[in-house]
Amino acid sequence: MKRILILPGDGIGPEIVAEAVKVLETLRREFGLAVETEQGVIGGAACDATGEPFPEETRRLAGAADAVLLGAVGGPKWESLPRELRPERGLLAIRSALSLFANLRPAILYPQLADASTLRPEVVAGLDILIVRELTGGIYFGEPRGIRTLENGERQGYNTLVYSESEIRRIGRVAFETAMQRGRRVTSVDKANVLECTELWREVMESLAAEYPEVELSHMYVDNAAMQLLRAPRQFDVLVTTNLFGDILSDAAAMLTGSIGMLPSASLDQHGKGMYEPIHGSAPDIAGQGIANPLATILSLAMLLRYSLGEAELAGRVERAVERVIAQGLRTADIHSEGCRRVGTAEMGDAVVAALMEQER
Ligand code: NAD
Repeated sequence: MKRILILPGDGIGPEIVAEAVKVLETLRREFGLAVETEQGVIGGAACDATGEPFPEETRRLAGAADAVLLGAVGGPKWESLPRELRPERGLLAIRSALSLFANLRPAILYPQLADASTLRPEVVAGLDILIVRELTGGIYFGEPRGIRTLENGERQGYNTLVYSESEIRRIGRVAFETAMQRGRRVTSVDKANVLECTELWREVMESLAAEYPEVELSHMYVDNAAMQLLRAPRQFDVLVTTNLFGDILSDAAAMLTGSIGMLPSASLDQHGKGMYEPIHGSAPDIAGQGIANPLATILSLAMLLRYSLGEAELAGRVERAVERVIAQGLRTADIHSEGCRRVGTAEMGDAVVAALMEQER
């Protein structure tokens, strides 16, 4: 029996996670999904309960689980705490405790929401791309690093971009494997014309491609990739890139959709265990009002089913149920537009459950 750890977190976290749990319970009751769930605390909620943002008990539960579903952490209440006790520290700690090296960020724009983008609807409507970002290496972690004083008294800052072949190969494999479940195209983003480290990146991606003859591999320099994401984003299927490039490109891709409340994410370890969370934060400005959009969290649950539980069929059902409620014109306040029906968090969750139940089994 697979085990899912549920960490609601802070702010709107408990509200949106409750809706994803409704969907999960429906899959258990009606669709034969065999999972056990447990709840834990993280972030500010954990600070309040135990004095630390990532308590030992949560670490133990996360270690024993096959997947973790997280809401969001943080909020003004905990901003004055010392840095090591802040809620966001809990997030970094759990990512590192679980060795989550691959970050998967889909950017999907349902045709009915195309007006929310800052780009023209005909450029972005129907967008469905996936950015695979390396998360535990590269220039964010490379040594040596620091700020030193030179002989002439001037200070100099320095960081190191470093990737070993095995690090490149394992993130590349995630990209190829996910492409096999999607459009079978991988674009590897690097700066091989300037950075030797990414010259190696390109070489390793090439050698991996031989193992995946059904997948078409292409390469793109990061500056061009940034341009192409804005010019014609639908040309991509899966983009795979380094920690730094992925950090920037995935935020740009998220903005293409214009709806932060709709975007899920996954962070995976070497064995497919993962943590799944919406890309947005705890939205303290709307917490407790019952108006937050739960769809990013529900879509995170769909990713959990696909990538950690091997339940691609059920994942597809959840995604189709979300498409259906959007097509029905139901909108939370953040994605509302004229002519649509405004609903709250719980009503949106109930509508997804109803759309699931309507599907043929
Ligand atoms: P945020 O994503 O929480 O909110 C940005 C804006 O988007 C707000 O106006 C908010 O109301 C809106 N929004 C976000 N999610 C929404 C949803 N599901 N439905 C409707 N509207 C939504 O970012 P922020 O305001 O910069 O940060 C707030 C807190 O969240 C901070 O403490 C920050 O550190 C934390 N944070 C946590 C995570 C995480 O847990 N992964 C990520 C980012 C920020």
